[in-house]
Amino acid sequence: MKRLLPLIAFMATVPALAGDLYVSPTGNDTGDGQLNTPFRTIGAAIEKATPGTVIYLREGIYRPNTADIMQPNGEGGNYDCVYYLDKDGSSELPFTIAGYPGEKAVIDLSGIKTGRRIIGFDMKGDHWHLKNFDIVGIQVTQTGHTQSINVALFGGSNCRIEQVNMHDGMGIGVYATKGHDNLVLNCDAYNNYDPVSEDARGGNCDGFGFHLKDTGATGNVISGCRAWRNSDDGFDLINNYAPVTIENCWAWENGYDADMNSRGDGTGIKSGGFGMKPQAKAPEEIPRNIIRNCLAYANKNQGIYANHHLGGLDFESNTAYRNRRNFNMVCRKSADEAIDVDGYRHRLTNNISFEPGDKNADCVNIDKNRSILTNNNFSAGINLTASDFESLDASQLLMPRKADGSLPEITFLRLKPESEAAKAGMGRK
Ligand code: CA
Ligand code: CA
Repeated sequence: MKRLLPLIAFMATVPALAGDLYVSPTGNDTGDGQLNTPFRTIGAAIEKATPGTVIYLREGIYRPNTADIMQPNGEGGNYDCVYYLDKDGSSELPFTIAGYPGEKAVIDLSGIKTGRRIIGFDMKGDHWHLKNFDIVGIQVTQTGHTQSINVALFGGSNCRIEQVNMHDGMGIGVYATKGHDNLVLNCDAYNNYDPVSEDARGGNCDGFGFHLKDTGATGNVISGCRAWRNSDDGFDLINNYAPVTIENCWAWENGYDADMNSRGDGTGIKSGGFGMKPQAKAPEEIPRNIIRNCLAYANKNQGIYANHHLGGLDFESNTAYRNRRNFNMVCRKSADEAIDVDGYRHRLTNNISFEPGDKNADCVNIDKNRSILTNNNFSAGINLTASDFESLDASQLLMPRKADGSLPEITFLRLKPESEAAKAGMGRK
């Protein structure tokens, strides 16, 4: 039995099953995509893949060019889709595109400037997994109202985007309008700023945006993700028709570019809303998005924001610190009346706020008679001071992730056990 162990350990880290494919920046598309004869382009592997295939990206920088765009003029002529994932896998046989274990694959999209909107990965089919690689340099080349997207969930369901880092480009990290039961897990989106469109405001560049068009697109979760220095918002759920859960996520310094110049809206977690046009387009049943165990720090305007939602949202065990307003619960009066009113039907449980930028802006625009506030420091009259926290060193947010991709253990904004708020069960778990 003992002699088998090294083999099992090897198989656990580098499975090599028949049907798997390999890609390397130094490969060749005339080969067959095997370990020793890898393809050069990711598109060649996607075309050859069948359900169950794992496409391994070997170490190095991939630089697709215009000729590599799998679906030019796609999505109704609106987008050039570099990698087009329209085949369907199944729960037993998903498609996977993964950085080779222990290696770092980086896809640099900066060479693609077509004059149209760009999508890095267009996830149209079901059961696709993206794992363990970076996407950088996505471009915007239009000056009007536009956007580019690193990873688009435009129809695929039961997909998983895990340990994919989207940064230093002009596009949104992950952007979803369709599909159910998708999971965005342990991803980072940062330094994303569009300096080209709409007077260089960067007002469309979010880390993670879910804007599901269909009330049946349920079961979507964003978990363990970090978003910082995105020029608009960290997380954005505006115009979203089906409830989304954002849990264990950190948002900081959004609304700025990589050099901390002020740019777009600047919300850590924009948790809902349907805009303020005279007649709001919204579903009959307003979704209750869930924001749980998240952290919002030093975002330009709002930490955790109801964004004129047309109903209640659930906020549980979140921490907000040094945002201009830590919790802003403002709602819109009704779909027919574009009037801001104090937030109604919200449930806030076990949240904490510390040192908002504006005076008394721990939790603003909340109708306490029409919402349920339970055991939050700001509703329970517990005033926090620096001595309640293990640490206020924000540089911990950038600590490396654990080997499995989960967030690092940090003491930043963690309540000391002897703190009155901790004893009451407030703060993040
Ligand atoms: Ca915006
Ligand atoms: Ca936004």
